[in-house]
Amino acid sequence: MIAFIDRFVHDNDLDFMPEPQTAEQDSDVLSLFNGVDLEFGGSAAGKDFGGLQFSKPLAVIKPSGTDDVAKVIRLASRSQHLTVAARGNGHSVNGQAMAHRGMVIDMQAIESRIDVDPIAAHADVSGGALWEDVLKRCVLEYGLAPRSWTDYLGLTVGGTLSNAGLSGQAFIYGPQTENVTEMEVVTGNGDVLVRWIRVVYSEFSEFTRDAELLVTQQEGDSFDYVEGFVFVNNDDPVNGWPSVPLDSNQSFDPTRIPRSAGPVLYCLEMALHYKIHEPPSVVDTRVERLIGGLRFVEGLRFTVDVRYMEFLMRVKRVEKEAKENGIWEAPHPWLNLFVSKRDIADFDRLVFKNILNQGVGGPMLVYPLLRSKWDNRTSVVLPEGEIFYLVALLRSCFPYPKGLAAEEMVVQNQEIVQICTKFGFDFKLYFPHYNSREEWKQHFGNQWIRFQERKSSFDPMAILAPGQKIFPRNWQPS
Ligand SMILES: Cc1cc2nc3c(=O)[nH]c(=O)nc-3n(C[C@H](O)[C@H](O)[C@H](O)COP(=O)(O)OP(=O)(O)OC[C@H]3O[C@@H](n4cnc5c(N)ncnc54)[C@H](O)[C@@H]3O)c2cc1C
Repeated sequence: MIAFIDRFVHDNDLDFMPEPQTAEQDSDVLSLFNGVDLEFGGSAAGKDFGGLQFSKPLAVIKPSGTDDVAKVIRLASRSQHLTVAARGNGHSVNGQAMAHRGMVIDMQAIESRIDVDPIAAHADVSGGALWEDVLKRCVLEYGLAPRSWTDYLGLTVGGTLSNAGLSGQAFIYGPQTENVTEMEVVTGNGDVLVRWIRVVYSEFSEFTRDAELLVTQQEGDSFDYVEGFVFVNNDDPVNGWPSVPLDSNQSFDPTRIPRSAGPVLYCLEMALHYKIHEPPSVVDTRVERLIGGLRFVEGLRFTVDVRYMEFLMRVKRVEKEAKENGIWEAPHPWLNLFVSKRDIADFDRLVFKNILNQGVGGPMLVYPLLRSKWDNRTSVVLPEGEIFYLVALLRSCFPYPKGLAAEEMVVQNQEIVQICTKFGFDFKLYFPHYNSREEWKQHFGNQWIRFQERKSSFDPMAILAPGQKIFPRNWQPS
């Protein structure tokens, strides 16, 4: 068994751990791990994709299996202060996988296990496995694929299941958390192609009407994926017209935009799976049947046919470009919200058309989801009503003088949340991040008591998940 400690920092608060200043003291600390092999090394566990929070852990543990994880937690329970955070791929944006002066467990260090049972059609996957590896194993070796995804797959299974895991399939199958007890699968083998379509709207009411129509059809009578996004009504390469076409041979013709259009436009994005052997005319007929009644702007429809895996890996290309131009490493003050159907038109008027009419330097997703597809026993909190919208402001900080600075984006996010509160919107944060217990209580609403009870039962000393800043060590239920 090999486990690595990557970093030590000084911590006077630790009543049982000496400050590791000398080699002897280091070995005193190491001896507490009793039986776990340890090594020093470098680590990036003090920061995350958001680039807004920085928090030094006492140590980063690279466990070789669940026994090591259990040992670390037992060790932490002997202290009054020590906390333990699991870290998947560190793609949180508000320090959720950090443990200030605590232990961070690098879940990716555990050898990835992706055992597929093609007869039972389920997969047994370790929490540190990346979704892109799950996809490759399931599709390339077995011609099977999980049903519910995230847009970007460089995330760990444990990391997305800690939240929900959302993409354009969630209206059919629910979030990834709904598909885990026995991971259900659909065939999605190498001969499956995807007809990927984007259509543009100038009126928000028509966009939402069509999006809601698509996600409320009977299963099998709709597309296999439905999402949507807002973009700016100008030629801005990141947020404007050029962000819509699906390949470099296509161009956006702005003369098609109605004169009545406002500062932002809307794009509905859909995908339909089909078999490589299906005659094009059959696929065309299926697509036209689904799209026929939609009221998008004529002439602003974009279509490509791609392999199933290429479609699911579509954000990988974005990652590559962002890494090349340095944007991937820049701060990402993201804001993710669930907004009720009742309030989404007002949200559009006050936020998209007003505060965000110059864009956010990245995608602004908005698409409907169905509450009935979510298990109400999980700790995720949703607005009331069957239909609600995911709003994801996926901001990137461009180097000065282009765009807003990270701090200004954070202030703008706060302004948006304040507007939602002031106008009484029924909304909740996805990937919630608060600084006080009062705010967390408000977030959970009538689920707070249940949430507290669960914490008391499963983590009574509040050793785990310090990055969420809900329960300090040795808290008392209130
Ligand atoms: C480029 C990009 C695209 C994204 N796209 C989407 C999207 O389309 N849909 C969507 O829903 N989300 C999306 N996200 C958000 C993403 O799902 C969450 O940020 C997710 O938590 C990140 O996964 P991670 O493996 O990096 O987890 P981390 O950031 O490492 O951890 C997140 C949380 O999970 C906990 N955790 C991690 N692993 C485990 C484990 N094995 N056991 C217990 N707890 C664990 C951590 O303690 C922490 O609280 C995206 C994020 C990025 C950066």
